[in-house]
Amino acid sequence: MSTAATSFPERNAAEAADIVLAPDAATPEVLARRTRQRRQMYAGQVASYSLGAFTLLLYAYAGVVSIGIPTLFWLGGLMIIGVFVVLSEAGVGEQWTDHYLTVFQISAHMALQFVFLVSVPTIGVAFISVLFLIFAFGTLRMTSSQAMLTWALAAIALAAVFLASDLPIGMPVATRLERTASMLCFVLVIGQCAFLGLFGATLRKVLYRRSIELKDAYRRIEELAELDELTGSYNRRCIMQQLGAEIERSRQTAAPCAIALIDLDWFKRINDAHGHPVGDEVLRTFAITVFANIRPADRFGRYGGEEFLLLLPYTDGDAAERTLERLRGIVADLDWSAFSAGMRVTISAGVVTLRDNDTADTVLARADGALYSAKAQGRNRVETG
Ligand code: GH3
Ligand code: MG
Ligand code: MG
Repeated sequence: MSTAATSFPERNAAEAADIVLAPDAATPEVLARRTRQRRQMYAGQVASYSLGAFTLLLYAYAGVVSIGIPTLFWLGGLMIIGVFVVLSEAGVGEQWTDHYLTVFQISAHMALQFVFLVSVPTIGVAFISVLFLIFAFGTLRMTSSQAMLTWALAAIALAAVFLASDLPIGMPVATRLERTASMLCFVLVIGQCAFLGLFGATLRKVLYRRSIELKDAYRRIEELAELDELTGSYNRRCIMQQLGAEIERSRQTAAPCAIALIDLDWFKRINDAHGHPVGDEVLRTFAITVFANIRPADRFGRYGGEEFLLLLPYTDGDAAERTLERLRGIVADLDWSAFSAGMRVTISAGVVTLRDNDTADTVLARADGALYSAKAQGRNRVETG
């Protein structure tokens, strides 16, 4: 029989996702796409009413109802659709979240079914079965309170017909033709419900695919970002890239280059004693302190957690050690009590210079060894390697 069918092809499934996601920004593109979606839906409704009218035509041939019934049913359906097409093309409804005006559509289609249910109760089950379709398609776009409201309306109308009247609501099965028409009612309703199920499944697939694409896009954005969010220093990916570039440059120019791995001492204790947010503030303050005390050419990035990498181009081992020793002293002498009474923060560092044939891995391994040595010797130290 009839209802609000939406056209199904896979190529429209991406657009269909917007039915659920209801974009906020009503750009001309969005408006055009919505209009296109509504036109597809109205075309589906016309098809659905035509199928319904065809079934009623069989009842008319079987002599159960007059020929006027299928005609009126079809025209009635088309009239409702026509009204909503006009409203749709005029852009009425665009200002509402539900630009389909679903509640109004459902109410109108339901009212039509009830008019026919009361007028020709002998084939009443056919019109009642359409209610299933109307709800199945309508609830796709309704809020739960709208669904409750329309359901209540349907319940009241059904109660009026079943309980407040003696109408002989039925489904003719006396002759072969009547049985065929009655069977068709159900076959068509089931078919359209299945169509709706497939539509929902496609929608789910589209949404799933989109969520994966979104995750990928987010990952790429993160990758493309150069800075570590917390400290404002380069992030790991970026500082590693810079390390690779420094190694290359140093190899070509034969200029010295020093690298320091810096780790905050007992940082876990700072977190444990003062809380993670204070730990974050300490990391931020440490980074600002480093930035204030290095040359513009130096590169400073977060290697991970509370471990940082400092690249010192055109710097030999002695100069690098002096720089790190100076930084260590500055951090240790800072007044950290502003964060928490009695707080102390120190750093340890492993400093190395680039050698011929060094790769990022080999130079970092040496720096890590030197850092380990600084930790082993009591922390708040700078060791070379
Ligand atoms: P060590 O002197 O040997 O380096 O000791 P440590 O406690 O600093 O080292 P450990 O590796 O045991 O702990 C590092 C701590 O750093 C644990 C982790 O929770 C903390 N941490 C890592 N990243 C962050 C962060 O972004 N914010 C905060 N607040 N803490 C972090
Ligand atoms: Mg540490
Ligand atoms: Mg560490």
